[in-house]
Amino acid sequence: MHELSIAQSLLGIVLQEAGRHGANRVTKVAVKIGALASVVPSSLTFSFDLIKEGTPAADAVLEIERVPAMGICRACGARMDMSGLVEACPDCGSKEIELSSGQELYVDHIEAE
Ligand SMILES: [Zn+2]
Repeated sequence: MHELSIAQSLLGIVLQEAGRHGANRVTKVAVKIGALASVVPSSLTFSFDLIKEGTPAADAVLEIERVPAMGICRACGARMDMSGLVEACPDCGSKEIELSSGQELYVDHIEAE
Protein backbone atom coordinates (compact mmCIF):
# COMPACT_ATOMS: atom_id res chain seq x y z
CA MET A 1 0.00 0.00 0.00
CA HIS A 2 1.53 3.17 -1.34
CA GLU A 3 -0.08 5.58 1.15
CA LEU A 4 1.14 3.54 4.13
CA SER A 5 4.79 3.99 3.20
CA ILE A 6 4.18 7.71 2.65
CA ALA A 7 2.45 7.96 6.04
CA GLN A 8 5.43 6.21 7.64
CA SER A 9 7.91 8.65 6.18
CA LEU A 10 5.70 11.61 7.16
CA LEU A 11 5.42 10.28 10.71
CA GLY A 12 9.20 9.83 10.81
CA ILE A 13 9.71 13.47 9.86
CA VAL A 14 7.10 14.62 12.40
CA LEU A 15 8.62 12.64 15.28
CA GLN A 16 12.10 13.84 14.40
CA GLU A 17 10.89 17.46 14.39
CA ALA A 18 8.98 17.00 17.65
CA GLY A 19 12.05 15.45 19.27
CA ARG A 20 14.27 18.30 18.15
CA HIS A 21 11.92 20.85 19.72
CA GLY A 22 11.35 18.83 22.88
CA ALA A 23 7.61 18.52 22.18
CA ASN A 24 5.72 15.83 24.06
CA ARG A 25 2.54 15.89 22.05
CA VAL A 26 1.99 16.68 18.40
CA THR A 27 -1.46 18.16 17.79
CA LYS A 28 -1.46 18.91 14.09
CA VAL A 29 0.47 17.89 11.03
CA ALA A 30 -0.07 20.00 7.93
CA VAL A 31 1.02 18.44 4.66
CA LYS A 32 0.89 19.74 1.13
CA ILE A 33 0.11 17.35 -1.66
CA GLY A 34 0.22 18.30 -5.30
CA ALA A 35 -2.79 17.55 -7.48
CA LEU A 36 -0.61 15.33 -9.68
CA ALA A 37 0.99 13.41 -6.81
CA SER A 38 -0.54 9.94 -6.93
CA VAL A 39 -1.80 9.97 -3.36
CA VAL A 40 -5.34 9.41 -2.16
CA PRO A 41 -5.79 11.84 0.78
CA SER A 42 -8.36 9.67 2.59
CA SER A 43 -6.03 6.64 2.37
CA LEU A 44 -3.15 8.73 3.65
CA THR A 45 -5.21 9.96 6.61
CA PHE A 46 -6.33 6.39 7.32
CA SER A 47 -2.75 5.08 7.22
CA PHE A 48 -1.44 7.94 9.33
CA ASP A 49 -4.13 7.40 11.98
CA LEU A 50 -3.24 3.72 12.06
CA ILE A 51 0.50 4.13 12.67
CA LYS A 52 0.45 7.22 14.92
CA GLU A 53 -0.96 5.19 17.84
CA GLY A 54 1.48 4.93 20.72
CA THR A 55 3.70 7.75 19.42
CA PRO A 56 3.85 11.41 20.55
CA ALA A 57 1.74 12.10 17.45
CA ALA A 58 -1.14 9.86 18.61
CA ASP A 59 -3.50 12.86 18.91
CA ALA A 60 -2.25 14.65 15.85
CA VAL A 61 -4.73 15.64 13.16
CA LEU A 62 -3.47 15.28 9.63
CA GLU A 63 -4.39 18.36 7.64
CA ILE A 64 -4.00 17.93 3.92
CA GLU A 65 -3.80 20.85 1.54
CA ARG A 66 -3.93 20.10 -2.15
CA VAL A 67 -1.63 22.17 -4.32
CA PRO A 68 -3.04 22.83 -7.80
CA ALA A 69 -1.06 21.72 -10.83
CA MET A 70 0.43 24.80 -12.47
CA GLY A 71 2.73 25.19 -15.41
CA ILE A 72 4.87 27.99 -16.74
CA CYS A 73 5.68 28.66 -20.38
CA ARG A 74 9.43 28.84 -21.01
CA ALA A 75 8.92 30.99 -24.06
CA CYS A 76 6.69 33.79 -22.73
CA GLY A 77 6.44 33.15 -18.98
CA ALA A 78 2.67 32.68 -18.96
CA ARG A 79 1.30 30.61 -16.09
CA MET A 80 -1.43 28.08 -16.68
CA ASP A 81 -3.54 25.46 -15.00
CA MET A 82 -2.06 22.03 -15.68
CA SER A 83 -4.82 19.92 -14.16
CA GLY A 84 -6.03 19.00 -17.64
CA LEU A 85 -4.00 18.07 -20.67
CA VAL A 86 -2.07 21.11 -21.89
CA GLU A 87 -0.27 20.66 -25.18
CA ALA A 88 0.71 24.22 -25.94
CA CYS A 89 0.85 27.62 -24.27
CA PRO A 90 -2.53 29.33 -24.66
CA ASP A 91 -0.76 32.69 -25.00
CA CYS A 92 2.03 32.04 -27.49
CA GLY A 93 1.51 28.47 -28.70
CA SER A 94 4.91 27.25 -27.48
CA LYS A 95 5.15 23.63 -26.39
CA GLU A 96 7.98 24.40 -23.95
CA ILE A 97 5.90 24.19 -20.81
CA GLU A 98 7.44 23.40 -17.49
CA LEU A 99 5.49 22.03 -14.55
CA SER A 100 5.96 24.48 -11.65
CA SER A 101 3.76 22.79 -9.05
CA GLY A 102 1.50 19.80 -8.61
CA GLN A 103 3.87 16.94 -7.79
CA GLU A 104 4.96 17.99 -4.30
CA LEU A 105 4.36 16.05 -1.12
CA TYR A 106 5.85 17.41 2.05
CA VAL A 107 5.23 18.34 5.67
CA ASP A 108 4.46 22.05 5.64
CA HIS A 109 4.40 22.54 9.39
CA ILE A 110 3.53 20.78 12.61
CA GLU A 111 1.92 22.01 15.80
CA ALA A 112 3.02 20.52 19.08
CA GLU A 113 3.02 21.09 22.82
ZN1 LIG B 1 3.86 31.03 -23.93
